[in-house]
Amino acid sequence: MNPMNTLHDPVPFTLGLVGLNVLMVGGNAAAADFLARQGALLHVVDMHPDAGTQDLAAAGKLRLERRGFMLADLDGVRLCVTAPGAAQAAAEAQGIMIGALPAASHRIGRASLVGAGPGAADLLTVRAVEAIRDADVVLYDKLVGPDVLALIKSGARRIDVGKRCGRHAMAQSAINALIVCNAQAGRHVVRLKGGDPFVFGRGGEELESLRAASVPTEVVPGITAALAAAARLGIPLTHRGASRSLHLITAHGSDDRLPEHDWTALARAGGTLAVYMGVRTLPLLAARLLAAGMAPDTPAIAVENATLANERRTLSTLAGIAQAVAAAELDGPTLVLIGAVVAMADVEAEVRRVEDSLAA
Ligand code: SAH
Repeated sequence: MNPMNTLHDPVPFTLGLVGLNVLMVGGNAAAADFLARQGALLHVVDMHPDAGTQDLAAAGKLRLERRGFMLADLDGVRLCVTAPGAAQAAAEAQGIMIGALPAASHRIGRASLVGAGPGAADLLTVRAVEAIRDADVVLYDKLVGPDVLALIKSGARRIDVGKRCGRHAMAQSAINALIVCNAQAGRHVVRLKGGDPFVFGRGGEELESLRAASVPTEVVPGITAALAAAARLGIPLTHRGASRSLHLITAHGSDDRLPEHDWTALARAGGTLAVYMGVRTLPLLAARLLAAGMAPDTPAIAVENATLANERRTLSTLAGIAQAVAAAELDGPTLVLIGAVVAMADVEAEVRRVEDSLAA
């Protein structure tokens, strides 16, 4: 293909596309013709390509695949031409140049952001079970237990977005794009998240991209780790005379360090603290609370794998909890509860119950 031919085009310029990989998601014959004549190596993915696009494919001007967009389609691509949606979001996230097509009318599916609870399948809500059973596609990560995954219907696609490639799980932007593009292909997408989707679960970011793509979305709440751990131990998170507030805090900031909470305010509030993602930064967190004036003998407990058969607890005080947790070498998801109500924990009784059910 001679790029000089394009001098006869209505637009008197050329795009330097000769030999470049260009992806078009959703066929548009006029745009495809223009790109092909600029010398692009054009790949079109479209479930229902229009007649013009099919003709161009038959004439060898482009490579056409009748299917929905997949992330791998962007490999090696320099320009992605598409209507607003998942492909555009994914291309943008990868710094690929975008060519914008007008929004097409899609057969829109729907998405459910579903709280999978702390692990035990019988702690799912009835609504969560219904959503999981109905799903065409389920995206899940490492906090979601096998008993919960067993509810997915056969034939549904399961996507493990927590699988480590190298050291990192799939990027949040890629997960957002996967949810949106599967819904736009007309499917019911269930995004299964440990605990509750809106408690340290990045469910808000997924909801934002679904809203931006106008995908109908429902949110199904789940039992968050703090509630599950407290129930297992018989710790009332609020209790007349002992705790008038509950604070859910993360000990893991976006830079991998302990976030700078208002420790003085937390210490002074005198409520129960539920610390998520707290094992690694626990020594510093305890030091901050002590420095802020919280009593060293305030009871504290770490619960690993709460509600699962391999649940473990480490009971101590604010002054001792970091060392106790380090000695226990916890490596599963662990929640730390700190506050006067922790003194009410029925640690031994519940441990015995777990052992009984394991023996049975
Ligand atoms: N959305 C989840 C929290 C995700 S952040 C929820 O609402 O529970 C991940 C953290 O949650 C873990 O580091 C741990 O602190 C806590 N967590 C999740 N499941 C847990 C479990 N079964 N036992 C103890 N902690 C758990």
